[in-house]
This record gives sequence, C-alpha cells and structure tokens, in this order.
Amino acid sequence: MSLIDRKRGALYGLAVGDAMGACVEFRSPGTFEPVTGFRAGGPFNLKAGEWTDDTSMALALADSLATGWNPHDQATRYVSWWKEGAYSVNGTCFDIGGTTLSGLIAFTKTGDAGNSGSRIGQGNGSIMRLSPVSIRYSHLMRDQAARLGELADESSAVTHAAPECRHGARVLALLLAGLIEGMPREAVLDPSGPILKPLLNDGEIPASIARVVRGSYRENQPPEIRGTGHVVKTLEAALWAFHDAPDYSTAVIKVVNLGEDSDSTGAVTGQLAGAFFGESGIPREWISGLARKEMIEKVLTPLLAPAD
Ligand SMILES: [Mg+2]
Repeated sequence: MSLIDRKRGALYGLAVGDAMGACVEFRSPGTFEPVTGFRAGGPFNLKAGEWTDDTSMALALADSLATGWNPHDQATRYVSWWKEGAYSVNGTCFDIGGTTLSGLIAFTKTGDAGNSGSRIGQGNGSIMRLSPVSIRYSHLMRDQAARLGELADESSAVTHAAPECRHGARVLALLLAGLIEGMPREAVLDPSGPILKPLLNDGEIPASIARVVRGSYRENQPPEIRGTGHVVKTLEAALWAFHDAPDYSTAVIKVVNLGEDSDSTGAVTGQLAGAFFGESGIPREWISGLARKEMIEKVLTPLLAPAD
C-alpha cells in the first residue's frame, strides 16, 4: 500500500464515516435499525451519502493547508463555510456546533485566530476535521513529531482551545501520521511506543486524555464506551472501534451504531481506519456513493503535492 493511498484514505475515510453516521445522529444506541451502509434521513434530512460539518470543516482546513500553515486563513475559511455555505455538501451551513460557532464569532470580532477558540467547550469539533494536518505534515513524524503535535494543537485552538481538545488533537494527529507513514498499528497505539510515550510524558496532558491513550478503550465496552460529542469519549470510542478492526468497514460500522454523535465518531474512526487500510481498503461503493465527491478530489490534489 502506498503513502498516497493512505493519505487519500485518511480524508476519504473521514467523509465516508461522517456520511455513514449522519442518518442516526442524536439517536440512543439500540433505538434504530443498525446502520450497514449509507442511508437517507437523520436530523438534517440528508440524502444517502451526504456528509456534514465534519467533512465541510476538513475540506476548509485542507484547502488552507495547501497554501501553507496559517491559522488565520483556516479560521477565515471556516467562517466562509458558516456564513456562505462554502465547503457544504448542499451550499448551506446547516449543522455548526456550539463551540465552533463561539470561536468563529470571536474570530470575526477580533481577527485573532490564536485566541478565538473556547477554553471551556470540550466537544470533538477539532478532531472530527483533523486528518488534513496529518496528511500534509506526516513527514514530520520522521524527525519532528513534536512539531506536528504543535500544529495539531494550533489547529484545534482556532475553535477549541480547552486542554482536552488541544491534547486530543495532538494525540490523533500523531496516531494518524504514524499510520500514514506506514508504522504497524500496534506500534502506533503502544503507550510505551515512540509516538505515545512522549505525549504521555508531557506534564500538561489532561488525565482524561492520558487514560484513553494508555488503553481504556481495550478494557471498556458499551455502555462505558459512548459515542457522545465529548472529545474524550469520541477519541475513546474511535480507538475502541479501530484498534482491533480487521478492515475499514468493520471499524466505522461498529462506531456509528453507538448513535449519539455518530457522524463525528464515524469521521474520527474513519480517519484512523482510512489512514491504516488506505483508500483501497474502503469499500468502493462507499467512495462512489459519497455526495459531491468532486469537492473532495479538488482539495486532495494540492494537499498531496510535496510538502513545504
Ligand atoms: Mg457532523
């Protein structure tokens, strides 16, 4: 499997997981017909294969990264999604999260992307959109992993500046980059391994994130594992679904059937599984069934160009 296949998988995996979960968002587990593929409906009454804010924000982030590292530009593109429907599957921003909205309102007032993000909200909004950072900068894993962590942290803080969100983004970005660079899954997830040990040794990592990184997802099962929109629970659910999955579809189907914030747990799990199994590991009919696939292709081409 090639580097490009894994990079493309990290973005297509996000979009497919988002679209897969959109039909059962906000539903309690066990109260809906189990999801096995794209389905119309959900709280926003989408068509089968349509995706939500997770993918819209990822496309905005990807578009920005192709021009270089600039949190102000990232925030500006999120605002154009919020206010003008840019990067939306249907031309309208129909599902912006509360923490994201408060950060973007602050940004429109101050123009200061580095200090706009909420320090209180602990939603999953900055990890659901994250894979473009790892796609663009996975090469930093080879000798500047700490720098990649800082970039993920900064990308989170544009809207989500709470320690749980920033460190959640650090963890996910490094896991994704390790997978993209072709490291074995067990080595990537090993809390004593080269990726996670330095993160765990960071004195600022919140205890809740550290507990997940150390492997809570290997011990717990539902109902302890929940697909809520809290960044710690989302990260835990995604790792629970991904860590032993035999293929992409098993991981994503497992997590979206937790319900609740199913599109975002699908998006986070889809990033991990897509980075590991590659675009070629995602069922072909799911990729071809994605709505507005050309919007994804359009941001991928410059994102995959040699990094600066
Ligand atoms: Mg969503």
